[in-house]
Amino acid sequence: MLVDRFGRTATDLRVSVTDKCDLRCTYCMPAEGLPWLPREEVLSDDELVRLVRIGVERLGIREVRLTGGEPLIRPGLPGLVERMAGLTPRPRLSLTTNGVALGRLAAPLVAAGLDRVNVSLDTLDPQLFRSLTRRDRHDRVIAGIDAALAAGLGPVKINTVLMRGINDHEAADLLRWSLERGCELRFIEQMPLDAQHGWDREKMVTAEEILERLSAEFDLVPEGADARGTAPAETWLVTGYRAPNGDPARVGVIASVTRPFCGDCDRVRLTADGQMRTCLFAREESDLRAPLRDGADDAEIAERWRIAFLGKKAGAGIGEPDFVQPMRPMSAIGG
Ligand code: SAM
Repeated sequence: MLVDRFGRTATDLRVSVTDKCDLRCTYCMPAEGLPWLPREEVLSDDELVRLVRIGVERLGIREVRLTGGEPLIRPGLPGLVERMAGLTPRPRLSLTTNGVALGRLAAPLVAAGLDRVNVSLDTLDPQLFRSLTRRDRHDRVIAGIDAALAAGLGPVKINTVLMRGINDHEAADLLRWSLERGCELRFIEQMPLDAQHGWDREKMVTAEEILERLSAEFDLVPEGADARGTAPAETWLVTGYRAPNGDPARVGVIASVTRPFCGDCDRVRLTADGQMRTCLFAREESDLRAPLRDGADDAEIAERWRIAFLGKKAGAGIGEPDFVQPMRPMSAIGG
């Protein structure tokens, strides 16, 4: 198992399959993009599957979430999912995506074994979407969400980052839209992980403000700590609404900045170039690609991974006076 010195066990592996993205969200990266990883540094399908297999067979990984960059732009993603679904024990397989290519890929991904999807959507307004993402793709994202629902991936989770004076007036509308579509909305507090280092704590929209806005239009009932478990989102039941499967409808808030949940964290990360990270905010990485390419056997790689994971810090430390933003931005770590 992957256990750190505070006794936390990681069972949830977030795998970035590419650092590239087909959107240019203003709060994530500059208009011109970023210096992408050279092709030879990115793990091949065989290398990725091998690391995930080691995680599943030897280290107790039970959930694998594919992310990026934008995971749907990695060629052959359904094939990669199929190979991961063939591992024993079979991990639960999920995807975090901007949804642009989901219209085309939702059905093949489900056929390959994908279990769940989170789609990022910050606005219902196509014009605002265009200025926020610097791309005119709103209709394709909506079509992608519908394709995911039609392919049986419901309840599709929607991830939204609210920004003051930009899209925070849409909080209640986004929730209503998600509930009516049979999606589960998660608001994510904006974190200091942008490539431009422009994050400002004073300007971010806090969980408290989000709940205040939602409560003006919805009756929200907190689900409490037991329902949350190790999940990053705190959840509330939305009175009067049902999920497509008949369960009570929910909304979640991921308050990484104002209500950090590091004590319950069960996550470990792998970047597209094979670096193991214990946390989004870690300042250190452990190179698993080098031993992989140098001919190390599975046992040796698992042991390196296990030892490196022991160094996971107690907390992300965003509120600490000595906090320093990690070198890599969110898109290069895998959000
Ligand atoms: N491209 C995929 C997507 O859009 O979901 C996966 C990667 S993206 C980095 C993952 C999520 O991180 C998106 O929901 C995005 O809005 C969010 N995100 C990006 N920068 C963020 C930041 N500084 N704080 C909080 N969330 C952020």
